Amino acid sequence: MDSVIKDKLLFPRKDASVFLTQEEIKSADEYCKNYVSFLNNAKTERETANAACALAEKEGFIPWKKGAEIKSGGKFYFSRRGKAVVFCTIGKKSLSEGISIVASHIDSPRLDFKMMPLYEDSSLAFFDTHYYGNIKPYQWTGIPLAIHGFIARHDGQEINIQIGEKPDDPRFFIADLLPHLAEEQMKKSLKDAVPAEKLDILAGLNSAPGENGSGAVKLNILRLLYEKYGITEKDFVSAEICAVPAFPASDIGLDRSMVGGYGQDDKVCAYPSLTAFLSVKDPEYASCLVLADKEETGSFGISGMQSAFFSSFINELITAEGGSAKECEVFSNSFCISADVNTCRYPLFKEALDEHGEARLNHGVVLFRYWGQGGKENTNDADAQTAAALIKILDEAKILWQTGEGGKVDAGESGTLSRFFSKLDIPVIDLGVPLLSMHSPFEGAAKADIYMAHKAFTAFFKRR
Ligand code: MN
Ligand code: MN
Repeated sequence: MDSVIKDKLLFPRKDASVFLTQEEIKSADEYCKNYVSFLNNAKTERETANAACALAEKEGFIPWKKGAEIKSGGKFYFSRRGKAVVFCTIGKKSLSEGISIVASHIDSPRLDFKMMPLYEDSSLAFFDTHYYGNIKPYQWTGIPLAIHGFIARHDGQEINIQIGEKPDDPRFFIADLLPHLAEEQMKKSLKDAVPAEKLDILAGLNSAPGENGSGAVKLNILRLLYEKYGITEKDFVSAEICAVPAFPASDIGLDRSMVGGYGQDDKVCAYPSLTAFLSVKDPEYASCLVLADKEETGSFGISGMQSAFFSSFINELITAEGGSAKECEVFSNSFCISADVNTCRYPLFKEALDEHGEARLNHGVVLFRYWGQGGKENTNDADAQTAAALIKILDEAKILWQTGEGGKVDAGESGTLSRFFSKLDIPVIDLGVPLLSMHSPFEGAAKADIYMAHKAFTAFFKRR
């Protein structure tokens, strides 16, 4: 058969290492150096929001103030309690013609401290945790952990905590039972072998000076925290403190083709969407970059996408523009990419993955219209016209892209932010990066795919 016709008929996945030029592969590598350092400075949603705002401020973005004047090229950001941020560049067209939105989430699975976390048992002090997001608890034992946190004290003072990231810092860990004595444990299901209630972090062993007996070790930990941060046991109640993996992100593989690190769901999309957004200075349409919180727990809470903060901010922009645009018209004319990760083909887990439809590492960004379980329940299932509009943008910009199925039919359930944008009547579709070992303490993504995400989002913000 004629090869020209064959090329026209088929839509094969293309391997980045074959399809991209050497120059592009080098650019991907350079791009990911900055991504790795971003990951290392942004493990929690607050840290990621801060890092993103700092990069945006360098490009001239200023905090949004209700009633501010807007004109084409104006650059603002709106922070929701420092945990979610919407950035906006005012376009040449009126808001009534719609907004280009790329939305990803900046929260990742982790171990949150309970409100009264500190307890003592057998002369050992522990931090009691309640996991955040969908995790396999056994993966969190026996690895070095760092403690990150933010405390809002009732006297108005705000305190940031970070222990375990500097080379000389102490680290933390969750002990597991030695295999020699684990005969009964090993017979249990993965879920029951390490129940999440056992994910308590060893805090220390020493008694407070001059104290002995029950409670002396707990008291010593409180003493150390008070000396360093001025906090007391009561301050844990108004704190967001969590344990995250302490190891840094790095290149992976002898060929350095991948990035490994904690929290790539969804920083592997948030970072490219941020760099793309900041690179398009004068967009035709108003552009919004949404970095959302709480996706991993259902997008509830005032910094999650089920809250009204996004539409409230857009309404303030509409008023600032003169108020003639209707919210419903702005939203229905908008176009949103929900930028989140998808799974990928992996020969050792064929039993859960779609034989033909799964995305492949190193084969570009993944377009996916649905996820869901039980007959596409709870999923956006983007319409054909929205998919076609995105494909046009990707192809015109020569983006390496592929499709993904997110596992075998009914193998499990997941979701993204797209369903919450569709609730606002915003045409929305998912485009993201294939991710290995998703939700584990160390996730892997291909550099070429990460770089393609940056290029794809850039092309999207440049749309006319
Ligand atoms: Mn995600
Ligand atoms: Mn996730």
